[in-house]
Amino acid sequence: MSSFAAEDRRIRALRPPKPRVDPYTAHGSLVEEERRPDGRVERALTVFLAGAECPFTCSFCDLWRYTIEGPTPPGALPTQLRRVLDSLDGERVDRVKLYNASNFFDARAVPTSDVAELAALCAQFGGVTVESHVNTIGARTLDFARRISGRLEVAVGLETIHPVAATRINKRLDLARFDESARFLGEHGVDLRVFVLLGAPYVPAEESVEWTVRTVEHAAAHGATLVAIIPVRGGNGEVERIQALGHFTPPTLVQLEEALERSLHHAGCVVTADLWDAERLPACERCRPARVARLQRMNLGGRTQPSVDCEACGAT
Ligand code: SF4
Ligand SMILES: [Zn+2]
Repeated sequence: MSSFAAEDRRIRALRPPKPRVDPYTAHGSLVEEERRPDGRVERALTVFLAGAECPFTCSFCDLWRYTIEGPTPPGALPTQLRRVLDSLDGERVDRVKLYNASNFFDARAVPTSDVAELAALCAQFGGVTVESHVNTIGARTLDFARRISGRLEVAVGLETIHPVAATRINKRLDLARFDESARFLGEHGVDLRVFVLLGAPYVPAEESVEWTVRTVEHAAAHGATLVAIIPVRGGNGEVERIQALGHFTPPTLVQLEEALERSLHHAGCVVTADLWDAERLPACERCRPARVARLQRMNLGGRTQPSVDCEACGAT
């Protein structure tokens, strides 16, 4: 039994119970505006698909909440996607993001027999984004890219390049493998979107923003067209255990502003802050709304914005 398997079991044992997940109903969907490297602002539909759990067990991950026991049943994902698309009711959308809380190119998560139908359902979109660990990028990626009529983008979690943290978060991500996968995607005309953590476990709290900025730089230097900075949140049991040991400090809204501001200069790469859970980030309640609004403007405009001066907390 590998040490990874033992670590996976230990992390899984700490999880709180998860809700029952229906494999024929997507968790939800939303349409947002997103800037692309050429300055265009796209309307992007994110579909949160229910399916098999990811075989990796990253210490910070809470996506398993949205997964089912066992493999995804054939036919389930097309059913989910069709229902969401039917509900659009003629709304203009440029891109679809199929987020299945796992790896799109893993046949256990996306049955091979469903790939053609999923590709056909995406025919109306100029861009299609799917998510994958770098270890599952390969021939199936190119097959899906050929089947869709738009351009494929693969979203991968680089998380952190901090040398100690990168080995301790149980991601099994080798930096050389990331670089190789980035090159592979670029050579085949597939775009790369990268997730970078703010507040990765085992990164010293005082170096947190710095390592996020460096990790964004690494992604941009390896051809990422878009990087999303994601603040780590607690709730999966393991993050709380690491926090109790002093190896995790919840990232703050002010740190997210700083990390984004310092990462806006990469030519050809859009950098954004993930604001899906911004209301949960530690912050001064007086200036939180103004800071979130500032981050939204930076996400969409790609330029730094006048700082928020707050008398209550003294932060700028
Ligand atoms: S690879 Fe992604 S989905 Fe899988 S456990 Fe890690 S963060 Fe979660
Ligand atoms: Zn304040």
